[in-house]
Amino acid sequence: MQPVSLRPKTLEIHGGGSLQDRELRQSVQRVVAFPLGSPQRAQRLFDGKENGFVYTRINNPTVGRLEDKIAAMENAEAGLVTSSGMSAIKLVAEYLAHRNGKIISSNRLYGGTFHLFQEFLPQLGITVNFITNPDQDAYYDAFTYKCMGSIETKFIYVETPSNPLIDIFDIKRLSEITRNLRLPLVVDSTLATPALLNPIKLGADIVIHSLSKYMGDGEVIGGIILGKKALIDDMRNGWFRETGPCISPDNAAILSYHIESLFGRMAEHCRNAELVAQFLANHKKVIRVFYPTQGPRAKKNRKLMPNGFGGLMAIEVKGGQNEAWTVLKSLKLFWHAANIGEARSLVIHPTTTTHGKMSPADREKAGIIDAMLRLSIGREDPKDLIDDLNQALKKI
Ligand code: PLP
Repeated sequence: MQPVSLRPKTLEIHGGGSLQDRELRQSVQRVVAFPLGSPQRAQRLFDGKENGFVYTRINNPTVGRLEDKIAAMENAEAGLVTSSGMSAIKLVAEYLAHRNGKIISSNRLYGGTFHLFQEFLPQLGITVNFITNPDQDAYYDAFTYKCMGSIETKFIYVETPSNPLIDIFDIKRLSEITRNLRLPLVVDSTLATPALLNPIKLGADIVIHSLSKYMGDGEVIGGIILGKKALIDDMRNGWFRETGPCISPDNAAILSYHIESLFGRMAEHCRNAELVAQFLANHKKVIRVFYPTQGPRAKKNRKLMPNGFGGLMAIEVKGGQNEAWTVLKSLKLFWHAANIGEARSLVIHPTTTTHGKMSPADREKAGIIDAMLRLSIGREDPKDLIDDLNQALKKI
C-alpha cells in the first residue's frame, strides 16, 4: 500500500499500488484458480488461517488492486468489488439484514434500488421502511422515530446525491443520528464518486458505488462495497463467496485504467452541469431545474459538497409526458440511453423507464413526475449542449 498521506488526486493513479511495483501499467490476471502449494497451505487458505489467492470468485490480484485503489481514495480500510452496483446493494442487504431484518431508507433512490427494496427484499423476509419529504427539517428526526422500539432494524440507507432529483443529504448529521441509534449508516455515493465526497470521513460506516457510471466512463459494469476490514473480510468469506457476484479481472483492469482520470473528468462534468442548469433555470419552457446549485438549498448544498455535484440533473418541462417526450425526441446531441456519467450527454424519461416500476403514488411521494426528463451532462463544449437543449425546448 502507498503511504496514507498521499492526496486523493494522486491516489486515483497510485492508490492500491506499491512503491516496489514492477508494472507501469496493471496487468490482467485472467485466471480462475491459483496454485495452492502444499496440502497444508491449501488447508490453511480454505480455513481462512492464511491470506492468499484461491479462486477468482473470492479474490484475484487484478480485482484486488482495484479494491485497494478505491479504498485508498475513499479513506476506507477495505473494499469488495462486485459484478454491478445492484449486486453490491443486494449483498449488503443480505449480509446485514437477513433473517427478517428491517432497513430504514430514504425514498429518494435510483428506481432499481427502490424496486429491490419495495418488491424483492420483502420476498426474502427483509422489509424496508421509507422516509419521505427530505426538504423538511423533520426529515432527519424521522430516522430516529422510525427506529425507536424496533430491534429488527439493521441499517439506515441513503443515496446522495440522489437519482434523479440530486438531493444532497447531510452525511455528518445522519451519522451522528445513526451512531446514537447504534446502527450502521450505508451510503450509495455513486453520483458523487470519491472525487466529490468521502462519506466515510463524514461518519458513514459502509459506502457503495455503482462503478458503471463515472468510474468506468461508460465502458463496463461493476460495483464496490467499502468499509472496515473485518466487515469486508467477513462479507467476502461468507455471503459473497457463496453467492458469487464477482467481477471479471478484465473489467476490473478497465475500471482501474479509467479511474486514473476520474478527478479531471468529474471537474468537467460539474462545470458543464452548472452552466447548463443555470441556462435551463432561466428558460421559459422549463418549470424547475433539479440541480443543487439551483433553488433555496443552493448555499447549504455547496457547504455539503464544496467540490461540485457531478453531471446528473432533472428538469420539469412546461406540460406533461407528451411535452417531455417531444423535447427528448428533438434533442440531437444527447443520446437517449439508460446510463449516467459518460463522456457524451444522455437523456431519459424517468417515469416511463428507470422509475417506471414504482407505483404512481410512490413516484409522487418521491417527487418524480411525468413532465420530467433526466439529463446526464457529458464533457462536450457546454455551449453546444445549451444550443441543443434550446432548439429542443422550442418544439413545445
Ligand atoms: N446506484 C445508483 C445511484 C444508480 O444510479 C444505479 C444505476 O443507475 C445503481 C446504483 C445500480 O448500478 P448498476 O447499474 O451498476 O447495477
